[in-house]
Amino acid sequence: MFNKAEELLRLCNEKNKRISEIVIEKEIKVNKTSYEDLMDRMHNVLRIMKDSSKAALDKEIRSVSGLTGGDAKKLEEYNKSNETLTGSLIISAMAKALSTSEVNASMGRIVAAPTAGASGIIPSALLSAQEKLNLTDEQVIMGLFTAAGIGEIIAKNATVSGAEGGCQAECGSAAAMAAGAIVELAGGSPEASFHAASFALVNIMGLVCDPIGGLVEYPCALRNASGVVNGLISADLALAGIKSLVPFDEVVDSMYRVGKMMPEALRETALGGVANSPTGEEIKRRLLN
Ligand code: SF4
Repeated sequence: MFNKAEELLRLCNEKNKRISEIVIEKEIKVNKTSYEDLMDRMHNVLRIMKDSSKAALDKEIRSVSGLTGGDAKKLEEYNKSNETLTGSLIISAMAKALSTSEVNASMGRIVAAPTAGASGIIPSALLSAQEKLNLTDEQVIMGLFTAAGIGEIIAKNATVSGAEGGCQAECGSAAAMAAGAIVELAGGSPEASFHAASFALVNIMGLVCDPIGGLVEYPCALRNASGVVNGLISADLALAGIKSLVPFDEVVDSMYRVGKMMPEALRETALGGVANSPTGEEIKRRLLN
């Protein structure tokens, strides 16, 4: 029913519907499911997202390797000091993103949307928007459908895999999905959602995938924390009325071309970037031993 943002936007305008509504219509048709069943499944997704976003806020959850853990709790405590530079919403969003990343690294339950590595961004962004805008779970679920529609377009026309396109494809896509969803939740137009999604991808275009020791932990958790901020500020840029000069479909194509230009060392092989730093290599040796 739609492969490109241009087509999805046309459907929104023709039917006078939001992105989420078009995505739901398509899901019901393609997967031959009922509206009720779809909603039930998305409620379950939201439940898991909420659990992973708060699980590591008040207790340390360490990864099996011991590389990461405890940072979500540190950030949550720092937020309580009321002396942060960027303010409570941003710090709380980053803490939630780190929480899901830590749950993921400890082999806990997360929603891999769009991937396990970038799983902290969408929950933290949407739950932060829920708190700020006083949204119901039902409204947040509509945002998840919007995010899904944007992610589907990226996956169909490019990639959401760090191994194929670098971290821009994973954390960039997650931030784009979150940004577009938040714009819709805040009352923005479908066009504004895609402006926000474009900003999020453009903001981190070229970001490499360089997990130390090949484990999805460091710098992955940090990129989830910065990814949620990217999603939030991209939504604000679009809600302020700022428009992306380059249409979303072209931004997605550009991101994909950049990913294809990346050498293999910068695509999840742990042979470049911080994975290849002296400390990264030392950690890898230790883990192998
Ligand atoms: S650095 Fe690579 S493995 Fe880690 S989150 Fe980014 S894309 Fe995923």
